[in-house]
Amino acid sequence: MKTLQSFVQGDWLNPRAPSNAILSAISDTPIAHWGETVNDFAPLASFARNIGGPALRALSFHDRAKMLKGLGDAILARKEELYQLSFETGATRADGGIDIEGGAGVLLWYASKGKRELPNDTLWLDGSIESLSKRGSFVGQHVMTSMKGVAVHINAFNFPVWGMLEKLAPALLAGRPVIIKPATATAYVAEAAFRILIEANVLPLGAVQLVIGPIDKIFDHLAGQDCVAFTGSADTAQRIRSHPAFSREGVRFNSEQDSVNAAVLGPDANMTSQEFDIFIREVVSELTVKAGQKCTAIRRAFVPTARIDDVELALKKALAEITIGDPRQESTTMGPLVSQAQLRDVRAKITDLCREARVIIGDAKVQTPNLSPGAYMSPIILRCDTPDTAQTVHETEAFGPVMTLMPYETLEHAVALVNRGKGSLVMSLFTNDVSCARAIIHGSASFHGRLAVIDRDCAKESTGHGAPLPSLLHGGPGRAGGGEELGGLRSVLHYMQRTAVQASPNMLSATTNNWSSGAKEFPDGPHPFRLKFGELALGKTLVTKARMITLDDVEHFAKFTGDTFYAHMDEKAAAANPLFGGRVAHGYLILSFAAGLFVDPDPGPVLANFGLDNLRFLKPVKPGDTIKVKLTAKSKSLRTEKYGEVKWAVAVTNQNDEPVATYELLTMNAV
Ligand code: NAP
Repeated sequence: MKTLQSFVQGDWLNPRAPSNAILSAISDTPIAHWGETVNDFAPLASFARNIGGPALRALSFHDRAKMLKGLGDAILARKEELYQLSFETGATRADGGIDIEGGAGVLLWYASKGKRELPNDTLWLDGSIESLSKRGSFVGQHVMTSMKGVAVHINAFNFPVWGMLEKLAPALLAGRPVIIKPATATAYVAEAAFRILIEANVLPLGAVQLVIGPIDKIFDHLAGQDCVAFTGSADTAQRIRSHPAFSREGVRFNSEQDSVNAAVLGPDANMTSQEFDIFIREVVSELTVKAGQKCTAIRRAFVPTARIDDVELALKKALAEITIGDPRQESTTMGPLVSQAQLRDVRAKITDLCREARVIIGDAKVQTPNLSPGAYMSPIILRCDTPDTAQTVHETEAFGPVMTLMPYETLEHAVALVNRGKGSLVMSLFTNDVSCARAIIHGSASFHGRLAVIDRDCAKESTGHGAPLPSLLHGGPGRAGGGEELGGLRSVLHYMQRTAVQASPNMLSATTNNWSSGAKEFPDGPHPFRLKFGELALGKTLVTKARMITLDDVEHFAKFTGDTFYAHMDEKAAAANPLFGGRVAHGYLILSFAAGLFVDPDPGPVLANFGLDNLRFLKPVKPGDTIKVKLTAKSKSLRTEKYGEVKWAVAVTNQNDEPVATYELLTMNAV
């Protein structure tokens, strides 16, 4: 029997009186004990702010990304320990995989994203320089920096590992220390996963703390640099939100709460179309994965009135294939709910739903024989034929294998019904008809954080209705809490502060490690391509000699590349073009000649050119014009011990010093 410990101020702490039991979902017998460990939260918050925060902020984004990689690898290396515990929560091996390996996957995904897309720095530029003055001596730039407070993460019971790690990864990448409060029902899995993170020995002291038991007293100690990220029910979210810390101190509150997600079968889908089968498969999967205890699960399915009987029949047939049982058995497709308490809650919600709908598949009252005393129940599908006048079916989330089937008449009707959920995490649409998809996206997208349109072309590779992905937004408006998580690097920004910095270009370049036009230039000394990554100063500039572009050059380039577009080759047609008024050089010719002007040909520190960003052709170049190039080192980011990326600002001008093309050249340079 395990007694759960908190991890506070760098030490594991036993509860004063571990008098509360957490029961196994399978056997209904105690699997762990817990008790209150923390009474005064002020020292925890202060430890995070004063020890963990500075240690994390001393690391660059790349160092933090490396730390996440270490954490992800550690979870994967010890995943079997977690699977064994996860079974006790009712999770099958497949359910556990989503939680455990999915959680490690989020850490690794952010590790890779942080390394590839964030600077090897502690400051992140948001957007480009804004010009604020006529002569360019006063400019503005939005910058993102780590906030100096603590992030309190309050997690739901259903994904004790993934739920913890999907919040932790972006927070740590942002340089934020975190205090984690797992949901009690599955805290023994979260505690074990947290222990693996600590034992990986890659986190600085104070970066993370874990609190088993109540945490609400911490809100009294939070202030404007702190934040709370919550996942759970709308009721709990409302209770937390009403604490004065949020209204008086301006503590940021991100809420991921329950939502009554919908799926729609398009009017084009009938029993013989592939989308019909895909829809049935998806509904069954959403009902049974994790026994329906998924915040993203389909709670309402809308189908054309003419198809509702066919859908009912097909669902009956498909659900007959489900094997409910001990989650440790490989043959089991659906395990029990997390606890008897959860089972009672789901049954009470079904009773509420039955005021407006009738059960057409399953029996909520019957305890699955032979499996008692586990919290087993069968999947339940209700049918409501009067969705317009119904209320409860659009508002009630029974957090288990429960869903209501409803008919709709037209697409406008379907949109109106879906939107009665008042905001959800996700909706899915099963159609092969573009006009149907357009109508639903335009009519309903603003009510959902994610909208999956699934047809025969993408079904096989689709990640499905219910799976949140690190690269895409997780969260939804209104009823779903109005929060945002994941969505790539967006979630890292939530833990940082955006500040508009106004200064001279020189001051801004020096403080942000990003050269901008108007800042000091260093034209003297060797060609910039002769300098190693470490030797290259930002602002190092090369101004090339000039080169005239002749008609022969244009014709040669056209024939050589095959680009004989009339604007380069046909004087009369080009003269009629309102933008050119005569033959012009190819844009790619300008780029090629620019490279010919600025490169230093011999082998040296520049290993490769790997792309151009923000290319603009600003003015046509005509035969007889002369171009020259200014190349300036703009920013640098170390990628490995051997090489780093250099971004160069390139400006191509004509004989009148007018810009004809600007872009950023990206090279990989040896250290
Ligand atoms: P819950 O009862 O609302 O609890 C959520 C978390 O809040 C738990 O850690 C809980 O701790 C804690 N908590 C309860 N009262 C608190 C208070 N006064 N102050 C601070 N923390 C408090 O939800 P749940 O039963 O764990 O999870 C199921 C619900 O979560 C479902 O409704 C589901 O839809 C929703 N959910 C949403 C998402 C999403 O991403 N949108 C994801 C998963 C689940 P204790 O466990 O110790 O009470």
